[in-house]
Amino acid sequence: MNEILKTLYQADIFVITIYSLVINTGIYAGSLLLYTLLSKLPFNHRLGSRQPILRSDILLSFITVLCNMLVFIIGVLLWKYGVIKLSPDESIVRIAVEVIVLILVMDFLMYVFHRAVHFMRYFRKIHERHHEHESTNMLSLFVLHPIESIGFGLMMLAVITVFPFSAVGISLYLLINSLWGTIGHLNHSVLPQWWLRKAKKMFLCTSEFHYLHHQYPGFNFGFYTAAWDILFHTLHPSLKRERRHTM
Ligand SMILES: [Zn+2]
Ligand SMILES: [Zn+2]
Repeated sequence: MNEILKTLYQADIFVITIYSLVINTGIYAGSLLLYTLLSKLPFNHRLGSRQPILRSDILLSFITVLCNMLVFIIGVLLWKYGVIKLSPDESIVRIAVEVIVLILVMDFLMYVFHRAVHFMRYFRKIHERHHEHESTNMLSLFVLHPIESIGFGLMMLAVITVFPFSAVGISLYLLINSLWGTIGHLNHSVLPQWWLRKAKKMFLCTSEFHYLHHQYPGFNFGFYTAAWDILFHTLHPSLKRERRHTM
């Protein structure tokens, strides 16, 4: 990681753009590959009807990758100009705490902004394209209005500007973020029942959780956890009933 950081620090905008292209197309390809593998697992079952992949979905997913590339470049430039500071401490405990903090902080911010875009007329228009997918497919995670993609990226950059995280902590968080987003849009239940029950008890969002959001957009705004939906009474009634029976 230190070698990459050293190269990036000395690199010009062209080299930073190449790095950004490689990383972001890697995340995109990794998500599609994971989606394909998970949806082929023998013990899974489909959650809803098949969501067709349109040509406009493919185009929009490429635009999302370009937006993510732009955010990466902005992040590197902010770091080079000293606005974002990276912690040199890369001990396992520090990284674990950083990842948990990033997930919890971003979970809250994403809940607030996601709920806001559903209720504010102007922003609802921006989020509508994602909800054209009433069911989900392998591109749903990337079928976002450019303002949403850049908005998420800038929110993330704002958080790491406030507190110096390590490069490893940030990279791990981003990896978990794309993993979670892929599983959230899976349209297949892939976890064994006992695991699923455990995930729900730990307030973790599952494929079923986000699938219900696409079906019933007034519920389940959380991304990583259901904690804020439980607290602010936006959990889908079927999950609420389930929680009452398991408690
Ligand atoms: Zn979605
Ligand atoms: Zn939504």
